[in-house]
Amino acid sequence: MNTPDVLIVGGGIGGLSTAFALSRLGLRVRVLERSKEFGEVGAGIQLAPNCTRILDDYGLLEEAKARGVVPDRMVMRDAIDGSELTALDLRDLEQEYGFPYMVIHRSDLHTLFLDACRATGVELLTEQRVVSYAQDPGKAAATTDTGTVHEAGVVVAADGLHSVARTLFSDDEPVSSAYVAYRGTVPISEVDQPVDLAEVVVYVGPRCHFVHYGLRGGDLLNQVAVFESPRARAGLDDWGTPDELDSAFTETCDFVQQRLPHMWRDKWWRMYDRDPIRTWVDGRIALLGDAAHPPLQYMAQGAIMAIEDGWVLAEHTKRLRGTDGAVDWAGALAAYEAVRPEHCRRVVLTARAWGELWHLDGRKRAQRNVLLRARKTGDYTFTDWIYGPTALFPDDEPAMFEPIPLEAADRVIGGPAGTRASASLGPISR
Ligand SMILES: Cc1cc2nc3c(=O)[nH]c(=O)nc-3n(C[C@H](O)[C@H](O)[C@H](O)COP(=O)(O)OP(=O)(O)OC[C@H]3O[C@@H](n4cnc5c(N)ncnc54)[C@H](O)[C@@H]3O)c2cc1C
Repeated sequence: MNTPDVLIVGGGIGGLSTAFALSRLGLRVRVLERSKEFGEVGAGIQLAPNCTRILDDYGLLEEAKARGVVPDRMVMRDAIDGSELTALDLRDLEQEYGFPYMVIHRSDLHTLFLDACRATGVELLTEQRVVSYAQDPGKAAATTDTGTVHEAGVVVAADGLHSVARTLFSDDEPVSSAYVAYRGTVPISEVDQPVDLAEVVVYVGPRCHFVHYGLRGGDLLNQVAVFESPRARAGLDDWGTPDELDSAFTETCDFVQQRLPHMWRDKWWRMYDRDPIRTWVDGRIALLGDAAHPPLQYMAQGAIMAIEDGWVLAEHTKRLRGTDGAVDWAGALAAYEAVRPEHCRRVVLTARAWGELWHLDGRKRAQRNVLLRARKTGDYTFTDWIYGPTALFPDDEPAMFEPIPLEAADRVIGGPAGTRASASLGPISR
């Protein structure tokens, strides 16, 4: 095999989108995927304007829109009484940020990138489980479990939450949130309740939430039910089972309860993230996507951050490429590492806080609801830091929003202030 310019480990959305971004510059790119086939497990995924802006740059936005749905509204409801708490007008949001907010089936997005990789000549290898990494000045290598050594000028590790490459940078472990997600897609013809497919809806409740939106031009209803597992909290191993799903939602409104039997019950996703790390580059080896910054899903930015990582790396690669085609990899990787870890740190930590806000109970739930109801639909204070153009340099990274303390709601509901906590409005995830 010829030596590629770039070796990418992991053929998820992060690995494939990065492979495409680099190969369209004319670089020789090889992807190593451990599975037998390239593919994505799961259901829908939300793509905010900071992602659709990049898809547009890649010439893939129209195809993504054709395969997905561009909803009109995103609505947050209280899961217990079903009332509306706040909303985003997604058509207005598109005007504001210049690019749409859309939803798409994960496998459709993955296939979009896979096809794009094939079209630009990316070498796509399956059944290649990478077990170790090495490097010499000016090159790096990944070795598979069969002993095959793949060398390249640069190795980008996009091998997900349980990344092998991350152990080169940190001895940390994934952090369990004790929350678990059930998913389910249902043909819309089988949905016996009125559902507005022009809306992305999240019902937020005590220690649980439920999300639904349309997929594939409205042919499918995508559903996600997420809850805190009592058995996880008790330190038991067999957590997140379907009996826990049913009991987690007993307090919720009829609509949510009636959707639960339609979740897939044979598979569930335990929710982990990791504490942020600032070093993602060691010589010619770089982390990308969930390998570098796995978030909890509440901001709906995990795959987006991975896509942004690849775009930023490719933009710096393009900028630092000589007329002879040689890339200043040290410069490109340094520029990548100068800007991405701080952005992703903000997202990972905000996702934790945002999830806590969703799952409040009692007085804090009432305080949260007051603050969310007070937000004006066209107020983008809480989304500007994330939906604007992806920063290429640290100085381009926008300032974050000011969190609103929950007790600010006490002006409306009176009574003693609760424990201080931050409320913040942002994207509504699944
Ligand atoms: C319930 C839920 C909802 C979500 N919703 C959203 C959303 O709406 N919007 C959003 O942007 N994000 C969302 N996310 C997050 C998003 O799914 C992830 O952040 C994203 O898929 C990460 O992509 P990745 O390519 O970095 O990693 P992965 O998708 O984990 O891909 C890693 C790839 O590497 C391969 N691999 C692993 N180890 C090796 C190895 N040793 N050798 C070779 N190959 C290897 C794997 O097989 C896999 O193909 C959600 C996540 C969850 C759990």
